[in-house]
Amino acid sequence: MAALPERGEVATYIPPLAAIDPRHFGLCIVTADGTVHMAGDALEPFSIQSISKVFALTQALGKVGEALWNRIGREPSGTAFNSIVQLEREQGIPRNPFINAGALVVADVNLGGHEPRVAIGELLRFVRYLADDDTIAIDEAVARAEQATGFRNIALANYMKAFGNIRHAPELTLGVYFHQCAIAMNCRQLAMAGRFLMHGGRHGRAGARVVSALRARRINALMLTCGHYDASGDFAFRVGLPGKSGVGGGILAIAPGRASIAVWSPGLNTSGNSKIGTLALERVAEATGWSVFGAG
Ligand code: GLU
Repeated sequence: MAALPERGEVATYIPPLAAIDPRHFGLCIVTADGTVHMAGDALEPFSIQSISKVFALTQALGKVGEALWNRIGREPSGTAFNSIVQLEREQGIPRNPFINAGALVVADVNLGGHEPRVAIGELLRFVRYLADDDTIAIDEAVARAEQATGFRNIALANYMKAFGNIRHAPELTLGVYFHQCAIAMNCRQLAMAGRFLMHGGRHGRAGARVVSALRARRINALMLTCGHYDASGDFAFRVGLPGKSGVGGGILAIAPGRASIAVWSPGLNTSGNSKIGTLALERVAEATGWSVFGAG
């Protein structure tokens, strides 16, 4: 594949992701009235990677409620997604649930003394329910590749174990984390799964309650401040929506009360966020005036 610098570089540290064609582009917008708008490769599945952290966080809050914040902070980290630097100073408490260290603590909460496959099965069922789609599955080849190459994540889990902030054997917690990152979804499924965050915690506009309105608002706040790692400020500046990216090139963005948006383009910028995906969201925000900071 010829290099396509204008599209960014695909992630190579997880081998199956390195093989993805960077020319893919998909977009799906589900508006508040339930209308689904799609463009490009919106029905092509991709590895959601860190976008899974939004669903895993929701699951963990459902299990332990606000006690989660005794083990994880709520501040942007200003460091890379897989950074270990702040953990020593902060006694094994990760800055937020969307950097890898925080997501590992979330996975440890979701494990809750069960077998990893039980926790993963529960998360998969939750995501299928949110998306109204039982075909969503885990890409086992990606999960195996993450397990085989995830030395930084293995280090993070072991380091936090030394502080007592990982309660299970690190390999069990890591098993949950690697599998949640390997969930494959397309833009349509992802935008559908994000509806509860557009609808103040409800499954659809008049649907069942998934989480309280307060919890949905807080998850959106975390996505806005921490959803793009050390580029979260730049994403807020350019797009102005709560959003969560993954190194598979996907981004889930929420316009509260208006839309749930999923975009996918596998080439990444230097912060590990989809380059064309961010650009597309910037254009959507400009065209619609949906930025939470006002139109313009
Ligand atoms: N599975 C990836 C990792 O832990 C997720 C990273 C991401 O999407 O930002 O390295």
